[in-house]
Amino acid sequence: MLSIDLKGKTVFIAGIADDQGFGFAIAKALYSAGAEIYVGTWPPVFNLFTKSLEKGKFDESMTYEDGSKMEFKKILPFDGVFDNDNEIPEEVKEDKRYKVFENYSIKETSEVLKKELGGKKLDFLVHSLANGPDVKKPLLQTSRNGYLAALSASSFSKVSMCQHFGPIMNSGGSIISLTYLAGERCIPGYGGGMSTAKAALDSDTKVLAYECGRAWGIRVNTISAGPLGSRAAKAIGFIERILDYSTRNQPLAKVLKAEEVGSTVAFLCSDLSSAITGSVVYVDNGFHAMGVPVSERGVQGGDLTSLHIQDGFEPHSFKSKYTD
Ligand code: NAD
Repeated sequence: MLSIDLKGKTVFIAGIADDQGFGFAIAKALYSAGAEIYVGTWPPVFNLFTKSLEKGKFDESMTYEDGSKMEFKKILPFDGVFDNDNEIPEEVKEDKRYKVFENYSIKETSEVLKKELGGKKLDFLVHSLANGPDVKKPLLQTSRNGYLAALSASSFSKVSMCQHFGPIMNSGGSIISLTYLAGERCIPGYGGGMSTAKAALDSDTKVLAYECGRAWGIRVNTISAGPLGSRAAKAIGFIERILDYSTRNQPLAKVLKAEEVGSTVAFLCSDLSSAITGSVVYVDNGFHAMGVPVSERGVQGGDLTSLHIQDGFEPHSFKSKYTD
């Protein structure tokens, strides 16, 4: 029987600060498959996250159906915009949100993790982070600094993570990042260069698949996820509209669950996907495959959907049956 068994495997997931986002769901899926979970959390939200964990705020979402509970081996402060300690500006080091931490650049985190792992190596690396200070601005109003900051935090962070974590990873390992359709198609509202950052992430996935494959025998893929009401997505400001639009127009008229991305990551970490690398894997209920919207007018008037509707097909009953 086919199954996913990641017992004895280790993963570093960068980009968890609560139980609402993809990173948390990925951790939960990989832990349930047997992996040891190391987490990288952005210094400005580190204390909030770890204190909430201590207070048991996430106990319910960390508990599985059988009553067992996910555990993190270690949570490390991690900032994806700094490659080395010597690149961190003094004002950041002195900022009260950073002052209490050390070793949070990408290179130093990889060194800390190497020590934490003892003689072991890392098997999987998950990049589940993004940041764009100008994300609410149209590209026409985005500053050079805002645009480059989006690319630095959301795209180059993955390149740098491959550079620094690749050497401490086992051959046969897997690197996964999270992208969004806005890198391929225009999604108004996803501004500030974030669409460009996702396009860069998609392109880098191919080049890094080649380079990491040849250097260390490691696979590199990215998941193009459908919309999820995470903290990051809520900050963009249009998530409710995108969720509504997607659910009404995608082939599977249901709301995406973060667990569906988590289980796809488990598959991409497992040997079941041993020949998959350099791919963008869509976990979006098929939204990317649509060429025209199934608008309300289209459904009611039958001018678009009637092209495909067979006798007895009722779009509205379909919607009410499958939509959460
Ligand atoms: P999230 O808020 O759970 O995760 C984003 C994380 O990035 C946060 O924990 C934040 O602290 C962290 N972060 C921000 N700047 C950082 C930095 N400089 N260094 C380290 N960490 C930093 O939200 P999410 O939506 O689960 O996002 C995870 C990934 O999924 C992102 O790449 C996002 O673009 C992608 N994604 C999200 C959606 C969606 O609708 N939510 C859709 C497709 C793809």
